[in-house]
Amino acid sequence: MEETKVGRIVKVSGPVVVAEGMTGARMYDVVHVSEMNLIGEIVELRGDLASIQVYEETSGVGPGEQVIDTQAPLSVELGPGLIESIYDGIQRPLDSLVQLEGEFMSRGSAMPGLNREKKWHFKPTVNNGTKVGPGDVIGEVQETTLVLHKIMVPRAVAGTIQNIAEGDYTVDQTIGICVAEDGSEKELKLMQECPVRNARQLRGRLAPNSILVTGQRVIDAFFPVTKGGTACVPGPFGSGKTVIQHQLAKWVDAEVVVYVGCGERGNEMTDVLTEFPELKDPHSGEPLMKRSVLIANTSNMPVAAREASVYTGITIAEYFRDMGYVVALMADSTSRWAEAMREISTRLEEMPAEEGYPAYLAARIAAFYERAGRVQCLGTPEREGSLSVIGAVSPPGGDLSDSVVQATLHVVKVFWSLQAELAYQRHFPAIDWLTSYSFYKQYLRECFEDKDQGQEMHGLTVEAMSLLEQESELREIVRLVGAEALSPTDRLALETARSIREDFLHQNAFHDVDTHTSMTKQYEMLKTVLHFHKRALEAIKADVETAQIFKLVVREEIARAKYIPESDVDSIARIRNTIDAQMRQLQTSKVV
Ligand code: ADP
Repeated sequence: MEETKVGRIVKVSGPVVVAEGMTGARMYDVVHVSEMNLIGEIVELRGDLASIQVYEETSGVGPGEQVIDTQAPLSVELGPGLIESIYDGIQRPLDSLVQLEGEFMSRGSAMPGLNREKKWHFKPTVNNGTKVGPGDVIGEVQETTLVLHKIMVPRAVAGTIQNIAEGDYTVDQTIGICVAEDGSEKELKLMQECPVRNARQLRGRLAPNSILVTGQRVIDAFFPVTKGGTACVPGPFGSGKTVIQHQLAKWVDAEVVVYVGCGERGNEMTDVLTEFPELKDPHSGEPLMKRSVLIANTSNMPVAAREASVYTGITIAEYFRDMGYVVALMADSTSRWAEAMREISTRLEEMPAEEGYPAYLAARIAAFYERAGRVQCLGTPEREGSLSVIGAVSPPGGDLSDSVVQATLHVVKVFWSLQAELAYQRHFPAIDWLTSYSFYKQYLRECFEDKDQGQEMHGLTVEAMSLLEQESELREIVRLVGAEALSPTDRLALETARSIREDFLHQNAFHDVDTHTSMTKQYEMLKTVLHFHKRALEAIKADVETAQIFKLVVREEIARAKYIPESDVDSIARIRNTIDAQMRQLQTSKVV
């Protein structure tokens, strides 16, 4: 057993403390700073000098005070009780801390991440005598009405199960024993600890195979993210970022949602903390929290905790992925995380790169997003899990050439370009169709059981996008020389593009039906909009005037298709018959 290292503080610089006498300490060891037991992490070692980032306010801490090396890396507790929790950046339960200590948490508060008193009903899925290894599922706990928590063998534990029994246990009681080949015994518990800085182990990575359906038409049809995929969304003020995040949290077809908030202002996170728990899961009617974990940092919490929060969040998310679940992690905003990195780096007197960010900024951002993916989980029974990561960025002044945005865009495969101008025009969700992109579009096909339908949907989105692009060019022409200069087909292109925008892309988050659209309904809606276009082109060829086409009453029905309930989707297909009939009538009356 190694001796506990005790060093002495020689310098305090905001969240960074330098201690001497730390020979033998390792990078990323967690330390306890001063008598107050502030939690910190070693981020630089030079000789016997260790630079430590401290997760709590360091005022009042001074040279000469002790630093104790715990010789363990920064870790989180994983087990039943995670769901419905609200944590700070280093997994201290905010709700219980606040209850215990009032609005302002005192320093050095050491609340465990998982409640030690609560008992959970554990049902083993293996028997005594079963041989197990890391990642093997040994039992289950119904954690909430929405999440069945799989208890897995921790890393580096393998052997034969003994004394496993169904029953009610707290997270740190022994639920069974694992006897290794050399006869040594390890107690198995409902909880395990896991370091946060490195990705959790997995058996293998799998290519994406389906999209993470969000029920938001502009996202699913045009800029989808896959199960296991990565997306970035900038959030200029007033662009509807909060509504989008709520919509995603509500409707995304993930089994577990982890939300990491690094707030801009103190009260912004408080909003999330009060609003999020009130949201309801539309599928079950249960509170959304029953499948969510929140990690919250307000800007009045120390920067180092903000730096750690994304790692805490993603490790928890990976843990649920390892159970074989579809998990979505939303981080808002990663720019605040990067700023925390910058501040620590400045305090460490590292050589700054662009905009004062450390040279490793891009590498850290990439490493974070690379923890997303669709995977073959470690252990038996064989299972597949996925972790999608959606990161919001908030560059100063909305400037997309900002280092954080650029480093993020290098790694993510989807960009939802939220535009304040669209929001001013009340076009919601304000995702700009011309500047957004997704490299996962080909997986849209896989959402449909009927492959031909999937293929057709893909074709429809390509056609719709090309009309939207054409619209932006035609608008320029109209601006220069007036609408009269346009040919009838150009005029039709403008009208159809308007219909795509208003009847398909525009989606009201607050309308009971419109708030969510299934893939089948999205297909029917888009097909109908473009069916009108096709028939209108034929009519134009038959010399029908565009003004007459645009006056057809069926257009009203197309516009209202979004409000047709899912149970009546077939009636959208019938609108196409009405289009045919009305167009035919136009052409016949023309001939007559
Ligand atoms: P931000 O968080 O970017 O400042 P919000 O998400 O609060 O902006 O959105 C501002 C307002 O825009 C909302 O109060 C709401 O009225 C409107 N809005 C945003 N998105 C939608 C949407 N999808 N449907 C309807 N209204 C929306």
